[in-house]
Amino acid sequence: MRKVAVLGATGSIGGNAADVLAANRDRYSVHTLAAKDNIDELCRQTALLSPQQVITASAEKYPQLAAKIGSRAVTGFGMEAMIEAVQQPDVDIVLCAIIGTGGILPVLAALEAGKTVALASKEVLVLAGELVMKAAARSGAIVPVDSEHSGVFQCLAGRRRDEIAKVWLTASGGPFRTWEKERIERAALSDALAHPTWSMGRKITIDSASMMNKALELVEARYLFGLEPEQLDVIINPQSIIHALVELTDGSMLAQMSAPDMRLAIAYGLSYPERLEKPGSKMDLAKLAELKFFAPDRNKFPSLEFAEHALRSGGTMPAVMNAANEVAVERFCNGEIEFGGIWRIVGKVMENTVSEPQTSLEQVLAADAEARAKARECR
Ligand code: MG
Repeated sequence: MRKVAVLGATGSIGGNAADVLAANRDRYSVHTLAAKDNIDELCRQTALLSPQQVITASAEKYPQLAAKIGSRAVTGFGMEAMIEAVQQPDVDIVLCAIIGTGGILPVLAALEAGKTVALASKEVLVLAGELVMKAAARSGAIVPVDSEHSGVFQCLAGRRRDEIAKVWLTASGGPFRTWEKERIERAALSDALAHPTWSMGRKITIDSASMMNKALELVEARYLFGLEPEQLDVIINPQSIIHALVELTDGSMLAQMSAPDMRLAIAYGLSYPERLEKPGSKMDLAKLAELKFFAPDRNKFPSLEFAEHALRSGGTMPAVMNAANEVAVERFCNGEIEFGGIWRIVGKVMENTVSEPQTSLEQVLAADAEARAKARECR
């Protein structure tokens, strides 16, 4: 029986994780459920999973949580409670699915305490990939939960480093793949939220439409797997059936395929190196009429250029790219800027920032804060 702490329990990944955990009660018990402020969903999952502890990040919502949970679990609030929870001796696995960079402190704390971190929050590695991977090399371990990275992880299993020529992340291409550039620039929020294959939270769905999600994932892959920038590339697979490809030095290509169902990557993140019995949708190859591939259009989607710049600069530049994007997406959702404005803001902030080597978390967070301030001022 392994004990799991779920951070970001009420988001899209958290909800899927609750499904997987509920279906595998014989293998996993839930130690902690933690989320921002969706108290109703925390209560639903508490009834379903009987955690020992339930935490909200919000001090204001805490009385409501405590009243509703009653004596069914220990309750707590704030970042400190989360950090304390992931370091408990009886916790084995920490599933981090907090949206944005908020997972950085609990992830570092969990690694320091020797835990396995099933990591869905790509922003944690984009913000401080060098520091996080150094921490993971000292103690604990990271198992990727992002679907593409879970795919790469599965393809790389048992391979020697000198066999690997290149790693390809696939992208669905998002809702704007076939749109003209001018139309994309003026797309409405509802257009950006209409993802063709994956059902996900709002921020990541908009990032998929702009392909900033793939930019973040390239950086994530670089740190997770210790790859050079030129060993990373993107290919569009609109069916979202192939999640990643690993090209070996002799030209052979290994692909990881599955239905676009996040429960599969979550389950593997929890069960690695073992596998669970059918944790999600199965794929019917006979019904799958075709698998198409396209090269991404870098002119229509400048995000991939940003990723290249961030990969080659390293240091704090990926954090700058991520922070500028988070602010730009927020401004787009608030109706302050057009969709194309997201790229203009990210491009401008990166252009006006000099990358520094990652030396400490404080320094990386300062670069993040500075990029956010610049992105708010951008016109
Ligand atoms: Mg992904």
